[in-house]
Amino acid sequence: MKNDRLPWRYHNGEFVTGDEVGLPDSTQGLHYGTGAYEGIRAYRTTAGSVRPFRAVEHFGRLVRSAGILRISLQESVDDLVAVCDDLLKRNEVTEDCYIRPIVFKQALLPSTPYGIRLTGVTHSLVISLVPMPSRLAEGRSVRLHLTDIRRIPASSIPAGAKVTGAYVNNALAVQDAIENGYDDALMLTGDGYVAEASTSNVFCVRGSEVATPDVTSDILPGITRQVSLDILGRMPGLTVHERKIGVAELLESDEVFLTGTGIEVARVASIGRTEIGSGPAGHSITSQLAAEYARQVRQSSPDR
Ligand code: PMP
Repeated sequence: MKNDRLPWRYHNGEFVTGDEVGLPDSTQGLHYGTGAYEGIRAYRTTAGSVRPFRAVEHFGRLVRSAGILRISLQESVDDLVAVCDDLLKRNEVTEDCYIRPIVFKQALLPSTPYGIRLTGVTHSLVISLVPMPSRLAEGRSVRLHLTDIRRIPASSIPAGAKVTGAYVNNALAVQDAIENGYDDALMLTGDGYVAEASTSNVFCVRGSEVATPDVTSDILPGITRQVSLDILGRMPGLTVHERKIGVAELLESDEVFLTGTGIEVARVASIGRTEIGSGPAGHSITSQLAAEYARQVRQSSPDR
């Protein structure tokens, strides 16, 4: 898979190509992690067009995350969705791709004293695209490492804000997982409950109950998590709960799976040395969810 960004990008109200988005080393977001970003997948639909999935929800979250950093975007959510459509056209995208909007603090205004602050600083917005095929059809599975690195509590950084600086926490957790031979990290809250994986939400299934950590468990309430809750809520015979989940409960589950824009829906094969879902039912709820999710992301109707 190519990691090269596609040439056309959006930068502060203009469409640009090439290296035009050069950043000075005084960029404030670089110094203090004062930025907010999103990851949005665009899928090739059954009708052949490429459409961003749940773009309104993603840009709504970007606007809220930016607001926490006291950034008021000049573009509305609708404007941002229109920018994406324009970028998909300009870049002549015909296959699945990934859209990365990022807004960050740029420069201190002349009257602003040097130092860390959220007001008196300009901001920049860049939206770029990267080719990224869906991996839903592979039915991929993930081996999770129960990392000792705890999720930053919502009392320190609002968990629902997708702010760049907070991702040092996730990067350290993933690195810990990789260095221990795993694919991704499972992070706990300060008081030891299940929070989330590095960039995805966690679900578990036991019998006919599906559960996922609630919003007080220091999670980013994912857009894929909500789509999944809606799908699972309509599956006959299942009860679905958002609540606190302990590690022991997770390890004893029939199925564990992750949801997120990047990972889509992926089953968890193991957590540490504990295998998950090796019983006769396998990961049947996960498979049903993944199949329905795969259908929804490719539907050509305007539901996005
Ligand atoms: N948690 C974290 C920490 C994330 O970065 C992400 C990815 N945005 C998710 C969960 C999943 O969120 P979404 O389904 O909106 O991509």
